[in-house]
Formats: sequence, C-alpha cells, structure tokens
Amino acid sequence: MSILFVQYYWIKKTIATQVKEVAIQEKEDSLNIKQFSEQAHIALRNVLQEISSHASDSSDLYGAVKQLRSNYFSVDINEELHPYYLETLLKREFYDQSIHQNFQYGIYDCFTDSIVFGNLIKFTKDSLYAPVSDTLTGITSPQLSWKKDGHYFTVYFPDMVNKSMEATEMLGSPWIFMVIIVSVVLLFFAFAVSIIVKQKRLSEVKTDFINNMTHELKTPISTIALSSDMLMRGDFSNDPEKLQRYASIIFKENKRLENQVERVLNVAKMDKETLHLKKDGLNIHELLEEVRENFEFTQTDKGGDIQLDLQASEANIIADPVHISNVVYNLLDNAVKYCEVEPNIRVRTSNADNGLLLEISDNGIGIRRENLKQIFDKFYRVPTGNIHNVKGFGLGLYYVKIIIEQHGGRVQVKSTPGKGTVFTIWLPLK
Ligand code: ADP
Repeated sequence: MSILFVQYYWIKKTIATQVKEVAIQEKEDSLNIKQFSEQAHIALRNVLQEISSHASDSSDLYGAVKQLRSNYFSVDINEELHPYYLETLLKREFYDQSIHQNFQYGIYDCFTDSIVFGNLIKFTKDSLYAPVSDTLTGITSPQLSWKKDGHYFTVYFPDMVNKSMEATEMLGSPWIFMVIIVSVVLLFFAFAVSIIVKQKRLSEVKTDFINNMTHELKTPISTIALSSDMLMRGDFSNDPEKLQRYASIIFKENKRLENQVERVLNVAKMDKETLHLKKDGLNIHELLEEVRENFEFTQTDKGGDIQLDLQASEANIIADPVHISNVVYNLLDNAVKYCEVEPNIRVRTSNADNGLLLEISDNGIGIRRENLKQIFDKFYRVPTGNIHNVKGFGLGLYYVKIIIEQHGGRVQVKSTPGKGTVFTIWLPLK
C-alpha cells in the first residue's frame, strides 16, 4: 500500500509538472505562431504589392491576404501570374522576413476552380532563401502577360505542426507507467501471498507430523515402561507365564517402535538422495504371493481378505525386492487402515505399454477429489477434522511414489468416496 501510495504521489506530481510545462510550451507556441503569422502576412502583402505594381490597375489591396489556418494563407490577385515569378517573389520576401520554413504554393483559377500551378519549395540554408537575381530565374516581370482575372494563390507551410497537440498526447504516458508499476507491484504481492500461504500450510503439516509422531512414539514407550515396571516390582518365580507375557509385550512394542523410527528415517534418508536401490530380477507374482502370506490384518478386528488376480503373462521386472514389497505393504496397509467395513482387497496384474501393471483396489472410505492431488505429498494426510482414529505420518504414499519413480515407473490413483480406491502402478518390464 505504501509503495502504491508513493508511486501515485510521484506520478501525480510528475503529471502536474508536465501539465505546467505543456502550458508554458503552448504559450510559447502561440506567441511563435502569432509572430510567424505576422511575418507571413507582411511577406505576402509585399509579394502582392510587387505583383500589383506591374498591373495596369493597382486597385485596393486591403483584405487580399487571408489566413485560413495557422499555416495556410490565401492571396487574391485578380490577375494571371507566372508561377516562377511568384516563386521568386515568395522566396525573397520570406527570406527578408526570416521565415525559414518549407512552403508549398499553388495558383488557382477561380473560373475553372482548379490549380493552375503548384510547387513545394524546400528550405536549404544557403541558397534557396537568398534573394534571387533575375538571371537565376530567367523570368522578369515584363515577360508575364497580365490579364485582369479572378485568380488567387495559396501558400502552405507543411512543417508548422501543432506542437501543443503533440504535448497533450504525451500526457497519456505516465498513466501507462502507473499501470505497469501497479501490475508489477500486484504481481509481487500475489507472489508474496502465495509464499505465505505455502509456508502456513507447511507449518500446519509440520505441527501435524510432530503431533502424530509424539503419539505414535509415546504409546509404545509408555507400554514398555509399564511392563518393565511390572517386571521389576513383581516376583514371577511362581508365575512364569506372566513373566513371558510382559516380556513379549516389551518385545512387540519395541519392534513397533523400531518400525516407526525406521520408517521416518527411511524417508529422511530419501531426502538426501542416498537411496541406493539393489535392483535384481524379480518376479512380481511370487512377491505378491509372499506378501499375501505374510500380511496380517492386525490393524482392525474386522478381519479381511486379499484376492490375487494375476493376469500378467510377463511378470519379471528388474527391481529392488525390499523396496517393492514395502510399496505393496504400504498400499495394503492403507487399504486396511482406511476401511470402515471388512477390508476386501483385490490385487490385479496385467501387461500394458511394455510394462507391468499392478492394481490394488479396496472397498474403503475413498478419497475426495480435492484431496487426491496431494496424497503423494510428504507428510500429507487427508484432513479428518478432530477425529484421529487412524494413525500415520503421511509418509506412506510419498515413499511409494519415490520408490516407483526411482524404478522408472509411475503411480496413479482413482477413488470414489464411500466406495473405494484403486492405486495403479506401472513398472517397466525386464
Ligand atoms: P498415512 O497413511 O500415514 O496417513 P499415506 O501417505 O499412506 O499416509 O496416505 C496419505 C493419505 O491418503 C492418508 O492420510 C489417507 O487419508 C489417504 N489414503 C491413502 N490410502 C488410502 C486408501 N486406500 N483409502 C482411502 N484413503 C487413503
């Protein structure tokens, strides 16, 4: 706003100064024009007198010189006139009156209403306006035949343009500057606002992540603390089963903690571009069978089912088995996590575009269109208001995307809220 104000103030000031300058210029111009027209009048009158002195009847010359426009004069002569003679007279008189302008003259015949003769005379410093001697023109006045007739000649000065008009036209330019400056300022402003919005979103994501992280790490830590406390306090010599139970709780929770930390560290490592893939020949069908064997529906107590529909005739790819199985696990995990009924997951393979297509579809809650674009972003979780029933860091799909892209493949998602989601992965064949 301040910049805009300062700009406005300065431009206004500039315009005011320019208007003043233009006014002064106009005054000067009008004085010049006045002077010029007086000089032209005198010159033309002299010419007329000269012509008339050769005529048989020198009648009243008053009113014969008329100024039609600031740079356009007409002179009634009532006699036939030799053009070169007129030209010579005009040059001499203009020189005498210090009129240093190009001029155009024309001799008119009133009866035919047409130009009898016309010519444009250019002003050159040394020669043209110098008094012309009779020998130079070759025309002397007695050679001309004078008939008393309805004639007139005109003189036009083409270079006498209206300067004040030009000046007022120039006045438009500061506004163009103003518009340009304002647009630049607005663009800059929009850019700044977009950065602020981005920063705000980032800080929200960060806060969310920290909250999630705290929650995810705190739960196993407190469970371990409780169990170990029990172990320290109690005497389990008579109850080895209880001892075993507490120990296994500690072991499981520790494993969970390890997994969480591993996951975050993995993604953190990916940032530093230290991701080294150990690519090898891999049969995706075998990998999927194995994953199905090992996948446990531990996240919900609704049970669940994975159906494999292995249609691909060529299932061998070059890939890192650990990362690819992590990708599949992540997608299966999500399919179970974001499902409110008994999860029914379908894994389908096929061949397309010289590659392998892997589709994982579920019957979960689905993702709304406006959130779809961002689900592969780091730390992004679909906002659920205050309900935090599903745990996560928003890193699973980010990991999926990075790994698949590192393998030269691509991942896409389609979803219908309330019905389910389909993740499609394409990987190049061996
Ligand atoms: P996390 O599961 O840890 O939140 P992800 O990166 O795996 O992070 O997923 C990002 C978001 O995408 C999730 O918060 C969830 O809202 C949405 N999402 C992922 N997979 C599914 C799915 N199969 N069904 C519905 N929503 C999903």
